Amino acid sequence: MHDLIIIGAGPAGLTASIYASRYKIDHLLIAAEPGGYLNEIHKIENYPGIPSIAGFELAQKMKEHAEKLGSQIVPETVESIKKEGGGFKVKTNANEYEAENIIYSIGTRTRQLGILGEKEFRGKGVSYCATCDAAFFKDKKVVVIGGGNSAAMAGLMLAEHAQKVAVVFRKPEMRAVPSYVDKLKNNEKVEMISEINVVEVQGSEKVEKIIFDKEYQGSKEFETDGVFIEIGSEPINDLAKDAQVELDEYGYIKTAQNQSTNVEGFFAAGDITTNSNGFRQIITACSEGAVATMGVFDRLKSK
Ligand code: NDP
Repeated sequence: MHDLIIIGAGPAGLTASIYASRYKIDHLLIAAEPGGYLNEIHKIENYPGIPSIAGFELAQKMKEHAEKLGSQIVPETVESIKKEGGGFKVKTNANEYEAENIIYSIGTRTRQLGILGEKEFRGKGVSYCATCDAAFFKDKKVVVIGGGNSAAMAGLMLAEHAQKVAVVFRKPEMRAVPSYVDKLKNNEKVEMISEINVVEVQGSEKVEKIIFDKEYQGSKEFETDGVFIEIGSEPINDLAKDAQVELDEYGYIKTAQNQSTNVEGFFAAGDITTNSNGFRQIITACSEGAVATMGVFDRLKSK
């Protein structure tokens, strides 16, 4: 039986593993895709000491750092976590592992709008990842839906490729940080369309237009080649729920200051938790990963 299994290798899981190696905690890090959501971030400009870096590159650096200190990254998908005896049984698509403690750091998945045509045109003009797909829209017209930081970043990145970018949001102002909003407003390729909702995506083989819930410049129809949906994310909590871990009303894992949960030995870290005042940033994920490992260390020591 291992001392610890960390599930998920985003910033929280990789940091937890770095700390676990330094505390000589025998552990495995199980993750189908190291880096996770970090891989999709175009540019990170708020991580101290690194003025600007692509998400994929930062993920690689964190992974290399963890491996250099001895992390064993198991590239499998976890299917269940069961509390048994003094520990947990973790079943993956390929194996079964046992550990006294768990750090659950799977994070969140992209939220969908649920409008007509969204599913039908996914991959045919509808995208949830500007970093992955922006280059396919060189010199084309695209729409970004959302008013948060993800939408702002997607808009800025798409403006590097597309001919025109419309950012569509439902409030009078975007809620993204002012520095991003200023950059959007000062970019001549970008059009900001406020207080409106998109109700349908239409096209034939590919996306051709979107439909608004009210008229914009005399029409409810708006021509576009691409639709980037950036309306936030929701917690990937299924495995935790099955393990009887307590969630808040929005599905995030309720965590104490040391990142422990209501289930003894089950810790959680990163975007999936209620900690860090709900401020879901790379730096707070790393912080929670470190604190969770300290919690595990204290628990192992007290036995
Ligand atoms: P957010 O939850 O911050 O924002 C979601 C946006 O989508 C809001 O503007 C919201 O509108 C809008 N929205 C939600 N549902 C709908 C809907 N059905 N129809 C239309 N609009 C909708 O999500 P983000 O992905 O932007 O950010 C998630 C977290 O990641 C945040 O904490 C953010 O700060 C962080 N992040 C940080 C970055 C950075 O600092 N560099 C980069 C990217 C993300 P409304 O405003 O009306 O509620």
